[in-house]
Amino acid sequence: MGGVSTERSAALFDRARRVSPGGVNSPVRAFKAVGGTPRFMEQGEGAWLTDVDGNRYVDFVGSWGPMLLGHAHPAVIDAVQQAVSRGTSFGTPAEPEVRLAEAIVDRTSAEEVRLVSSGTEATMSALRLARGFTGRDRVVKFAGCYHGHVDALLAEAGSGIVTLGIPGTPGVPAHVTADTIVLPYNDVAAVEAAFAEYGQDIACIITEAAPGNMGLVPPLPGFNAALSRIAHEHGALLISDEVMTGFRAARSGHWELDGKVEGWAPDLVTFGKVMGGGFPAAAFGGRREIMEQLAPAGPVYQAGTLSGNPVATTAGLTTLELATPELYENLLATSHEVRRLVSDALTAAGVTHQIQAAGTMFSVMWGVEDAVTDFAGAQRQDTAAFAAFFTSMLDQGVYLPPSAFETWFVSAAHDEEALSTLAAALPTAAAAAA
Ligand code: PLP
Repeated sequence: MGGVSTERSAALFDRARRVSPGGVNSPVRAFKAVGGTPRFMEQGEGAWLTDVDGNRYVDFVGSWGPMLLGHAHPAVIDAVQQAVSRGTSFGTPAEPEVRLAEAIVDRTSAEEVRLVSSGTEATMSALRLARGFTGRDRVVKFAGCYHGHVDALLAEAGSGIVTLGIPGTPGVPAHVTADTIVLPYNDVAAVEAAFAEYGQDIACIITEAAPGNMGLVPPLPGFNAALSRIAHEHGALLISDEVMTGFRAARSGHWELDGKVEGWAPDLVTFGKVMGGGFPAAAFGGRREIMEQLAPAGPVYQAGTLSGNPVATTAGLTTLELATPELYENLLATSHEVRRLVSDALTAAGVTHQIQAAGTMFSVMWGVEDAVTDFAGAQRQDTAAFAAFFTSMLDQGVYLPPSAFETWFVSAAHDEEALSTLAAALPTAAAAAA
């Protein structure tokens, strides 16, 4: 797509910058790590996005994870249109939220769930509940894990924080993070040592089930199980953040690939993205005994005007209903094929890289010789190589996450045409990265 016009996107970006900080409503969208004009999208259909200048792209961002079925899936659109025509919000209990909660409980380790509107709300509330349940304040998190923009959890977080090189953020008082212990990911000895020193005061460990916000850094075999064991030895809880991996890495989430097989479950778990089907819906859930501490059943307060919104829960429920075991088998095959195409092209161009995966999710680690197991390793990436690759792919009609620290997402709609567009673009982009 040489000579792509971005005139309208550029004009909208100018207008946006006058009325919104940085011209965006979420930082990574501004393309700061890769340069160039952020594309203002107008339409999505299956694996494709079309921008306001009429350029088409094969989409490997999938709205940062939610679009498991591809854009504008007819069944989701139909269900949403019917739900909208019955009213957009009641602020009362309604059947779709019960059905969505049942679908989540049915396929995950959670015995009960509370629906909220964003992943940030889910992790923030799970943290409060863990502290309320244990009567303790300290929390263990891992460098490079992103749990939304929760004050206490932004220290050494991944996603936009690492993309922009912000060490935590101004506006979070020191006393708010004073109880946050940040440890290196995949380091069981560091967790043991922290518990040996502070075990009595630690409410919980929170971890991404498989981190996807420092690039994809899968847990080493047994790491999540060790977290569960260590937490329980000290009367603390394990919160598994499956906002990104839930209903995405595998049908129930990453837990399907470790805890379910190994016979353990997190005490609390958070979900978002896929379960909202492209609408603002998220959840936290877990063991009944803990969840029953939540208001109005128990004393730990949590609430939301739009929580369990009938349109959002209908979109999420329809998505989960269509997400059959066969769909995940196909998604995994597509994911493998994309990884193979990318890796072969990079190898052919002499670009050093690693492809790292958890279930259907994966990312490319640029310029590293060995598997990356923690945040320090992920930060050694050659981000300039990625930026050159990204820009070339974008010019050729392939839309990638605009940061080397983000996961690629495929959808059930990524077909032969989508993959051949990718394959055709790869040699030029790989040469640009070399
Ligand atoms: N937790 C994880 C693992 C995430 O990847 C994200 C978002 O990317 C969040 C929490 C926050 O979710 P949201 O952006 O919906 O607030």
